[in-house]
Amino acid sequence: MQQYDYIFCGTGASASLLLLQLHQNNLLQDLNILLIDPDKKGKKDKTFCFWADVEEPISLDLNPLISHRWDKVVLSGDKTQSILPLQYNHVSSIDLYNQIHQLTLHYNWQKIISYVDEVKADKEGPFIILNGSVLRAKYIFDSRPPVYKTAQVRETHIFQSFVGWMIETENEIKDSNAFRFMDFHIEQQDSTQFVYVLPFSTKTALVEVTRFGAEKMSLTDAEELLDHYVKNNFGKYSIQDIEIGCIPMSNTGINNTQLPGIVTMGARNYQIKPSTGYAFKNMYYQARLIVEAIKQNQPIEVFNKSKSKAHKGRFSFYDGLLLDILKDKPKEGKPIFEALLKNVEVKKILNFLDEKTDVATDLSIFYQLPWKVFVSTLFERSFSFTWFRPLILTFITIFFLILSNHSALQNYLAYGLIMIGLVTVGIPHGAVDHLLETGKWNMKVAPLFIAKYLFLASFMGLLWYILPFLALVIFLAYSSWHFGQADGKKWLLSKWSSTFWGASVLFYILGTHLSETNKILAVMGNLTLPIACPAWLLLPWLVVAIFHKNASFALTVFWLFLSAYLPLLISFGLYFIGQHSLTGWQDVRNHLKLSNSRMWIHSLPFHATAWIFLLCFLVFWSSAYPFEETKRWAVFFIFIACISFPHVISINVVYRSKE
Ligand SMILES: Cc1cc2nc3c(=O)[nH]c(=O)nc-3n(C[C@H](O)[C@H](O)[C@H](O)COP(=O)(O)OP(=O)(O)OC[C@H]3O[C@@H](n4cnc5c(N)ncnc54)[C@H](O)[C@@H]3O)c2cc1C
Repeated sequence: MQQYDYIFCGTGASASLLLLQLHQNNLLQDLNILLIDPDKKGKKDKTFCFWADVEEPISLDLNPLISHRWDKVVLSGDKTQSILPLQYNHVSSIDLYNQIHQLTLHYNWQKIISYVDEVKADKEGPFIILNGSVLRAKYIFDSRPPVYKTAQVRETHIFQSFVGWMIETENEIKDSNAFRFMDFHIEQQDSTQFVYVLPFSTKTALVEVTRFGAEKMSLTDAEELLDHYVKNNFGKYSIQDIEIGCIPMSNTGINNTQLPGIVTMGARNYQIKPSTGYAFKNMYYQARLIVEAIKQNQPIEVFNKSKSKAHKGRFSFYDGLLLDILKDKPKEGKPIFEALLKNVEVKKILNFLDEKTDVATDLSIFYQLPWKVFVSTLFERSFSFTWFRPLILTFITIFFLILSNHSALQNYLAYGLIMIGLVTVGIPHGAVDHLLETGKWNMKVAPLFIAKYLFLASFMGLLWYILPFLALVIFLAYSSWHFGQADGKKWLLSKWSSTFWGASVLFYILGTHLSETNKILAVMGNLTLPIACPAWLLLPWLVVAIFHKNASFALTVFWLFLSAYLPLLISFGLYFIGQHSLTGWQDVRNHLKLSNSRMWIHSLPFHATAWIFLLCFLVFWSSAYPFEETKRWAVFFIFIACISFPHVISINVVYRSKE
């Protein structure tokens, strides 16, 4: 049985904006309403600012609540500009809450100061659990603070942390009819941080220091920055009031109950724009939509957003890109915003932030920004799409196939690329094995680790010297397992399927280039691969990939198939660098939680040692054979066999932890 028409879980900004509009539209008469919030909402806790056209409904409707308006702006400390017909509006949270207190008295609503435990629905309709009791209503408006899910691939969760001082100055504030928007003339402290100034009179202003970033700004840092900024800009001052806050800037999912009769609102309904933290205007317009639907007796849960609904379209893509930059390259924030504010007309910027611009305008804005950081971030992002790398490898394979009639150019470019790959990820992905167990260099265990590593590598070297056939069999066996392990984990194959895949790839690459393979094997120890591999051998794997609906897997099978028509070493090099080493690199980097550059630096000691060992190998073996290209490669593969033996064992830690 319904006890209430509406229950409001949370009576903050979004709930207040909705109640106000329901009242203005005369939709609250004779309704039994329950308001629940742990906070009495008896004091100012937030300053809500938003820009809007003077004639826009939000400006007209909220007119009595707007305590100050600015139609001029100073951008990043430069000259004053008009933003008319837009205005920047200020609403104090307490004025909004007071309106709701008056409505509560007027309609005689029930109000409970408490936390709602749960919001649910069953066949009788929506209900809440409050202090162990079940309370039912026709509609439950849920604006409790959102609980964000852990960020997944291509999702970013950072913070907009800020501290604001309401100050009174001794001297008059210059340009007190203009607000300052994102003034970057403060120390950046390796972050993206800036100041807003909202002058309320010639001697009072709200000065707010804000940081966009993964780390929240500490109160001490904020106070130091504010003191410095205020003294420099306004001289002597006294603090009247303090506002401290933090807004999530996030494109991750929110844990929500999407059930009939439950209407999610505010931050919980993805109303905060990820790249700016502004939400007030969005919440106002969501409230308008709800009111219109109620007037027309239409369902209102349709305005509930899911993550995919909230974060789609090109503006979400721009937001995501900026969040990535702010999180991973925080020092780039200042040059980006300064270029934006300096080169782009302010009204255009505000329309862009309101997501009202067309693609051509967006492009004209991006043209004014430092493009390198966006391109590099876009590139990094693209790599997080699992199909992106195999697609690039497909293009590279086709490119080298086109060059087949120009073998000198083909070799020059392909070996150049493989060499770059070996130096950047090929050897380094195995040169951080010493960090895999403990995550850092440990002087106590290091000597034993190095001794074991050298022993296993020397054992393989010795085996090649005295029993090359056995060495080859062992090398092929652990390489199949190792290649399959990295790919199989990514594509969710079983252990046996993974090893079978690894063996298929090896046999395919070697067996489709039988004469080249056998030339090298002959030098490696009078060995031969007895049977050629037909090109169709990979086709069953294409069926498996399609069955798993795995585009990355299917594309990999496709380009590997094409690579049979390239020389052996190019085909193997593309797989070893482009597929195996890059996958291994990503897995190890995630395991160690290091950035690319830090991991490469960590790999340097063993990486450099590996090249020295390779040189020694080449010198040692060259005395045994007259040296020419095939023999160089034979020596190279023996070297790879030696150093990969201990690596294959060490890297198990990474894949065991993924199980
Ligand atoms: C300090 C600050 C300043 C901001 N300034 C701006 C701005 O200038 N412009 C702008 O566009 N956006 C601004 N925002 C962002 C956004 O507009 C606000 O966060 C806004 O308050 C979000 O509204 P809401 O209704 O989702 O949440 P809130 O207003 O936070 O309301 C949620 C309510 O739920 C209550 N609650 C918590 N737990 C429970 C529970 N278990 N059961 C019942 N109730 C519960 C809380 O007490 C709170 O009253 C600001 C945010 C902050 C934090």
